[in-house]
Amino acid sequence: MESTPLSRSCAFLDRDGILIEDTGHPHRIEEVLWIPGIMPAIRRLNAAGLAVCIVTNQSGVARALYDEAMVGRLHVWMAEQARAAGARIDGFAYCPFHPAAGGGRYGRASARRKPGVGMIEDWLTHFPLRREGSFLIGDRETDMAAAAAAGIPGHLFPGGDIDAFVSGLLVTA
Ligand SMILES: [Mg+2]
Repeated sequence: MESTPLSRSCAFLDRDGILIEDTGHPHRIEEVLWIPGIMPAIRRLNAAGLAVCIVTNQSGVARALYDEAMVGRLHVWMAEQARAAGARIDGFAYCPFHPAAGGGRYGRASARRKPGVGMIEDWLTHFPLRREGSFLIGDRETDMAAAAAAGIPGHLFPGGDIDAFVSGLLVTA
């Protein structure tokens, strides 16, 4: 990874519904439908000097629909696709747990699972990133709740052109 200036603010992006269409636990490359405008939107966030970090609940692991290795491979591929489009994604965080799914080792509550704040806090602590100026874009109320718990603005994407949506956020920021 390229060297990272300290104390950047971050645009936290939900994955399913923001980066790619939420087709119901998408986990294969063939299933990926990028949200229209997402690459220009990420380039716009990069140009604004923001880190871009993905925070995604992946209860499909707990539900035994796919495993963590598949999540990892998909995220590597997504980062490569973005890079090929001139867009930089700085990192992916996911939560494989679900409190009510199955009886396996992933079937438990986790502070990292949104609306929990764990994934955001881990990024802020370990990257490191600045809370001031950071925000989250998601498509569900659980995303908004996680942002609120982190003390950062949450922006609910209503669908449509996400580049126009991001452009509007940066103008008013
Ligand atoms: Mg979502």
